[in-house]
Amino acid sequence: MKLSFEKILEKVLDMHVIDTHEHTYPWEVVSSRNPSIYDIFEGGYVFWIAKPPKNRGDYKGLVESVKEILGSTFYRTCAIAVKDIYGVNIDYPTEEAFIEASRAISEAYRDRYWIRRLFKEKSLIDKALWDPYWNIWGEPFDPEIFKPVLRINTLLFGYSRDARDHNGNSPYIFEKYFGLEVSTFEDYMNLIDTVLEEAKRRGYVALKSALAYDRPLLFENVGEKDAKEVFNKRGKDLTPRDIKVFQDFILRYILSRAAKLDLPVQFHTGLAIIEGSNPINLANIIREYSNINFILFHGGYPWIRETAAMAMSFKNAYIDFCWLPMISPSACRLLLRETIELGLSGKAMWGGDCWAAEATYGALKIFKGILSETLWEMIDKGHLRSDDAIEIASKILYENAAKLFGLSR
Ligand SMILES: [Zn+2]
Repeated sequence: MKLSFEKILEKVLDMHVIDTHEHTYPWEVVSSRNPSIYDIFEGGYVFWIAKPPKNRGDYKGLVESVKEILGSTFYRTCAIAVKDIYGVNIDYPTEEAFIEASRAISEAYRDRYWIRRLFKEKSLIDKALWDPYWNIWGEPFDPEIFKPVLRINTLLFGYSRDARDHNGNSPYIFEKYFGLEVSTFEDYMNLIDTVLEEAKRRGYVALKSALAYDRPLLFENVGEKDAKEVFNKRGKDLTPRDIKVFQDFILRYILSRAAKLDLPVQFHTGLAIIEGSNPINLANIIREYSNINFILFHGGYPWIRETAAMAMSFKNAYIDFCWLPMISPSACRLLLRETIELGLSGKAMWGGDCWAAEATYGALKIFKGILSETLWEMIDKGHLRSDDAIEIASKILYENAAKLFGLSR
């Protein structure tokens, strides 16, 4: 039976979800700030494109700030959430609405399980993969919702004790955590082994690379001897080439361990250091490490077709739509349609990629809308049967990620 669009939408909105990527700030952090609408905008990328007012209580300034970006999906994501969750309409920004929303937000966060409720009850997200890059090892989290992933960027910065990744992290903090002392290159390899094994033991379900913010994504095949020579310079007179050689080697080393530990690897692709973030750059390592599953984030935006082509070319490459519905619903729609047409609906998944749980709610609602529209168009043209469309939606929202990361219903 051919279902109507309304019926498809209703079924998709009712579906439970595994969210492949979040940076959600823990309740302890959010509640200590007396949260307001400002925190939702901050946790939903609005301040990536709008300049925030100096003072977080300056609602007049906040209205002026977001008026500059009207029509942006980052703002719309937050507006959808504030309306559905707190019952305040901020579609058009006004001081009164911002004050009213802030009052409701502050009140809601008195409940120490509010974030859990936003995920589980409001968004129907059963589990979310969690990347706390600001504290890659220590932050407490709610195991009812979150499954941590290990941010690997910092491990590529062991060529000097002074080196830091783009989030300010040094791998040498792990010496303290594990009571290890690194003086030789072999010690450093041992430190990496320990971190990865311990992450696996602690229940981390994947490795996550945000290296596209640190460097280009092309990793050459370099010898251990060359990497060791760089390490032995102890941070003195390093050239950019030295750093690249060291990092290229270390990434491969990490991948060889990931294969043994059976950890999939999530890769940020697209929008970052833009000239080096095309997912095609990863073709050599995806081919070389055919026993590791690689998940290409953000649909590789703007290289959405390249991302689909990678998933088509490699059995171990997957498409993750995380962040994409918030960047551009149009690009998301196009990639989704092409993903299904290419027969890749079994290799696609979604994540929110936000700091605020409210923004995750808004991003998911937008994605579910695009998914329903895309599937309904295909049903309407006779390309899909309704039952199959529903099955595809459920795979993209839940089963594909559950299978890949070993999570069960
Ligand atoms: Zn992210």
